[in-house]
Amino acid sequence: MPGENEVKAMEQLQAQLLDWYDTYGRDLPWRTDTDPYKIWVSEIMLQQTRVETVIPYYLRFLRELPSVDHLARVSDEVLLKLWEGLGYYQRAANMKRAAGQIVAQHAGRLPGEVSELLRLPGIGTYTAGAIASIAFGQPVPAADGNVFRILARLTGRRDSIDDAAVRKELTATLSLWIPSDRPGDFNQALMDLGATVCLPNGTPLCDRCPLQGFCRAHTEDLTEDIPQRSRKKPRKIQKKTVFVITWKGKVALQKRQKRGLLQSLWEFPGVEGWLSERECRNTLDSWGIQAGPIDAMGHTKHLFTHIEWHMEGFRTEVVCVAEPDRWTWVTAEELSSVYPMPAAFRFYSAQV
Ligand code: SF4
Repeated sequence: MPGENEVKAMEQLQAQLLDWYDTYGRDLPWRTDTDPYKIWVSEIMLQQTRVETVIPYYLRFLRELPSVDHLARVSDEVLLKLWEGLGYYQRAANMKRAAGQIVAQHAGRLPGEVSELLRLPGIGTYTAGAIASIAFGQPVPAADGNVFRILARLTGRRDSIDDAAVRKELTATLSLWIPSDRPGDFNQALMDLGATVCLPNGTPLCDRCPLQGFCRAHTEDLTEDIPQRSRKKPRKIQKKTVFVITWKGKVALQKRQKRGLLQSLWEFPGVEGWLSERECRNTLDSWGIQAGPIDAMGHTKHLFTHIEWHMEGFRTEVVCVAEPDRWTWVTAEELSSVYPMPAAFRFYSAQV
């Protein structure tokens, strides 16, 4: 049990952070009410993705799929199109599966208990805490990387915040700080503090921080050293050659596999490695395509969490194709409005 002085300090920390939030908290579209569905959609979209990127996606998603029931019934193709460009597509697939579960087991309403939320696909400890505290007023923590950074600085921890044991201890500390009257606001205040004041790279803006008086990293001049992060493995580089093949005013697409990276999305045909023009022609020949001139479209790269695609693109017009049904031929209009395609190919799809 914390002593009297610790309780007083905790209450002061809560009050200062909440006062700051009332004045400087970000005005975000999912904060207009505490609808659990809206909180859930926003929190899933915000994983690994910046707020500014998420806002238009969130608004469109809510317009097209305004309830759990709509999400449970949407086709995979429409869902992926709504998610196109946001990345980490497994998030969307998990949401649809979770929506089906919520309809079947909870009458279409998200449960409010962390333990029940954790049983839904795609909902981990952070997201469960965010939904339970913001939408249902449960005094539970919601700590992601940004919040762990603040906690490590406040408490002066110099071991890696990527370490599971460190995260567990910091979460336990945070649990003691959550006020029972405004848990959702408290968690959102920490999220906003991490996004606008206690910044990750470079110097945090301690002069604007409501928690300066509680912060060991600040008082001990350790803000450059905290948090410590575990060293990440460098991304694996994969070279690819991408073909934009047109025939009768349409372009060839193929669907990616149902499992793994960018599952079930559409892509331009391609092969591993960078090919010379002669090798491109040989590849097209092997696909039964007699091609006209082959023109380079340029180089682009796309970063995923663990790999990088470095791509060379080529455009060609079909003279004769032996097995046209091997691909799906789509118009430029269909490419932009119907077929979900990962952002990795945007450089080439913009040239169609
Ligand atoms: S005082 Fe500085 S380092 Fe400490 S929590 Fe505030 S912004 Fe972060």
